[in-house]
Amino acid sequence: MEKIYTSTRNKTIALSGKEAILKGIAEDGGLFVYDGLDTLQLPIQDMMDMSYEEMASIVLKTLLPDFSEEEVIDCVEKAYSEKFSDERITPLHTVGNTHVLELFHGPTCAFKDVGLRMLPQLMSKSLQTHKGRDVMILTATSGDTGKAALEGFLDVDNIGITVFYPDNGVSNIQRLQMVTTEGDNTCVCAIEGNFDDAQSNVKKIFQDKELAERLNACNIQLSSANSINIGRLIPQVVYYIYAYKEMVKKGDIVFGERINFCVPTGNYGNVLAGYYAKMMGLPVHKFIVASNANNVLFDFLKDGVYDRKRPFYKTISPSMDILISSNLERLLYYKSGKDAAYIADLMKQLEEKGAYKVRDDVLERVKADFCGGYCDDKACADAIREFYKETGYVMDPHTAIAYKVMKDYEQKDPTHKSVMLSTASPYKFAPAVYEAIFGHLDMDEFEYMDELQKKTGAKIPTPLKSLKEKAIRHTHQIHKDMMGAFVETTAKEMFHD
Ligand SMILES: *Cc1c(COP(=O)(O)O)cnc(C)c1O
Repeated sequence: MEKIYTSTRNKTIALSGKEAILKGIAEDGGLFVYDGLDTLQLPIQDMMDMSYEEMASIVLKTLLPDFSEEEVIDCVEKAYSEKFSDERITPLHTVGNTHVLELFHGPTCAFKDVGLRMLPQLMSKSLQTHKGRDVMILTATSGDTGKAALEGFLDVDNIGITVFYPDNGVSNIQRLQMVTTEGDNTCVCAIEGNFDDAQSNVKKIFQDKELAERLNACNIQLSSANSINIGRLIPQVVYYIYAYKEMVKKGDIVFGERINFCVPTGNYGNVLAGYYAKMMGLPVHKFIVASNANNVLFDFLKDGVYDRKRPFYKTISPSMDILISSNLERLLYYKSGKDAAYIADLMKQLEEKGAYKVRDDVLERVKADFCGGYCDDKACADAIREFYKETGYVMDPHTAIAYKVMKDYEQKDPTHKSVMLSTASPYKFAPAVYEAIFGHLDMDEFEYMDELQKKTGAKIPTPLKSLKEKAIRHTHQIHKDMMGAFVETTAKEMFHD
């Protein structure tokens, strides 16, 4: 099959779609990109009459041409049918004059489900083609990826999953969702450190050749469920097109009109998928990249300097507490004119000096499609409260960041319509949301959930409500330097005992 996926850092590392999904990240630390992406066009106008599932099939077939039509249809069916609490998968609501794309109706109540319901399906098909091996998925999580990946890979044949989360770096509800996971192929481990430590060490494990050889001897290979895996990124392209279709259908825009998307951003996976849709023809004016107090992307979009040497803040939007935004590397690849040597050099500077500055022409091209904004915890809480008082709609703290940044942006550009992406159920962050609207109470998170429901009438999602009754099954806790050894032991035990 055609080797259309190449490393952002070296074009001679080239794989087919299936191979790239199985591998997760290139051996030189680069991310896999479809080199010819800018030459592809989706039939956007035809897609305006399609269901979410039909759209998903077209997107997958276009970006993963080594999957057969039957394989794609089977993956879409298994990933989405009856797995989401809303049959539209990602419904678009108009609240007052704000367009909200709700991405949190999957089994774990955050947008990560859209990608992580699909990735295991794609991986299973890829394993059928490349037979005879077991795969251990490694995942670093800032809170939401972990549970979505655990759910997605639960009891999938020949695949095991290990999730690392920063101890004290996730909300208690997020932690409980993960540590109560069942299944014999799941492992959850807290590390002393923050999300960046977890993500960097996972990337290092992928580059550890000796570890790979020892595992290979046991017929085990490692892969990733983070958004560095293209199999997770590609499914996220679909909801941008779906949102556009809904805007047209509801008469908010005419077909062809360009709109903005405002995206609460951490690792740049969500917003990059939107940019992929734009490259393939979706009429988008700007992507508004919304950050919390960890505003490294805001600074980058201003002057082209990416500098992670800065204080790390723990905020009430923990899934965005990230200073090393992995998928920016893919964007820079395209915006540099696909200059792999240049990207390899930037990433080397980031690793060695903690910072890099992009060329002016690269920054100009980035700015043509993206602009940034940020807001702190106080402004975020104010946004949750004010929007609730105005409309009765309850936003989670990540969505609220997008809301605030979008409203600020609309002052500057009132001409284009904007859609904001809502990335989590407010109940995942019930204490922060309740406190923002009604003030502090001395209660645990489940009592906060109940109170929030009583006062607002917004329904608690079943998977979160039932969490209270579940037994804790995972209690591992290790130092961040022990992650490699931990993976080796876990993988060998899981597949050979
Ligand atoms: C992961 C996450 C984000 C950030 O998404 P990226 O793809 O990492 O930019 C925002 N909000 C929530 C609720 C998340 O779980």
